[in-house]
Amino acid sequence: MCRNGDLGRLDIYYDYEALSRAVDRSEISSREFYMWRYAEFLPVPSREYVVSLMEGGTPLIRASRLAEKLGLKNLYIKDETRNPTGSFKDRSMSVSVSMAKYFGFKRAVTASSGNAAAALAAYGARAGIEVYAFVPDFAGYGKIAQLLLYGAKVFRVRWIESEDPTVKIMRILVEHGFYPSPSFGPFNPYQIEGSKTISYEVIEQLGWSIPDHLFVPTGSASLLTGVYRGFYDWNAVGWIDGYPKLVAIQPEGNYPFVRAWLERVPPDPDAIRPWEKPPETIATGLEDTYPWDGDYGLYALYETNGYGIVVSDNEILEAVKLLARYEGVFAEPSGAAGLAGLVKAFEQGYVDRSDTIVVLVTGHGLKDPEVIAKSVGEPPVINPDVEEFKVKAYEHYKLRLE
Ligand SMILES: *Cc1c(COP(=O)(O)O)cnc(C)c1O
Repeated sequence: MCRNGDLGRLDIYYDYEALSRAVDRSEISSREFYMWRYAEFLPVPSREYVVSLMEGGTPLIRASRLAEKLGLKNLYIKDETRNPTGSFKDRSMSVSVSMAKYFGFKRAVTASSGNAAAALAAYGARAGIEVYAFVPDFAGYGKIAQLLLYGAKVFRVRWIESEDPTVKIMRILVEHGFYPSPSFGPFNPYQIEGSKTISYEVIEQLGWSIPDHLFVPTGSASLLTGVYRGFYDWNAVGWIDGYPKLVAIQPEGNYPFVRAWLERVPPDPDAIRPWEKPPETIATGLEDTYPWDGDYGLYALYETNGYGIVVSDNEILEAVKLLARYEGVFAEPSGAAGLAGLVKAFEQGYVDRSDTIVVLVTGHGLKDPEVIAKSVGEPPVINPDVEEFKVKAYEHYKLRLE
């Protein structure tokens, strides 16, 4: 069966010869630090079409306390929670909506577990393009509230079979003239162009060097593909030489992409089997039962000598806590899955203590406050009384206060 039907990949390549003559890397580094400083490497034909909320330009945090806790030496967090709507999807949707504006579309449609739709809704609002969002019926309300506030027309779609019903309805509307803007490649080739700028930034922030490993939470594998393409572009213009090992992390309750890697299937969309059941994980951004960019994603793992890691929901929650308590970074479960993957990869011997490691933290914790609330429980209630305070401090936090 051909899973993509009549869809094929459309990947965007640039005239790298011409670019390497026209653009100077130190000149790029002197521009304002946000995604559009890389305009020459983005597909939008002219500045007048750019729809931006100042996405990108996110910090690469040297995570020294966390590194010490884990026994590592060179650990960095690329904090994508700082984007305008709270996830890296803003990069993708900024490019996508700019292209919709260029093409003259008035309506856009997306199938999403939340963050892609939220980003599309925000950029649609900024561009004056109407947004229709189909989300799974189990999507968290935090994400849906964000969509509704941005003015998107939101529909929860019942998920009964393994085939993603949000994609099904989106494909029908595309036949009716809506601009397709989900976050994965075969429906919209511009997504990857946005997420690749994460790699550009990491390279610049590491002083034009390449990390040894880069950990990427993975759903449809579009982010993974984009991250690979960022390194690809700058190898092609001769600004860097080589790639990090790319690492794809998926949750135990849905890992069709990592399963394909474990089975070493060829990088071909028909060789990747969709997950047989509806996804079961707290990482709601990683629920794609079929990795739409899995073919290129597998290619990226094979080419970079990378690997896949499967993590449990508990390991993800543990990573959420580690990020918050050791580095002050508040991530949603999907956003912290990369760190859960690193912990496991280190245990399993994939990673050396002194390797330079970058973990992408992809989405903000306030996206999914219900999940977080469940994992931390309730604080004690006291009177303003020091004795009671001491008793409860011990009962609840095991603190002995003199
Ligand atoms: C979408 C998303 C991912 C995964 O990206 P894919 O391109 O689907 O692989 C990871 N983390 C968060 C927070 C996301 O919203």
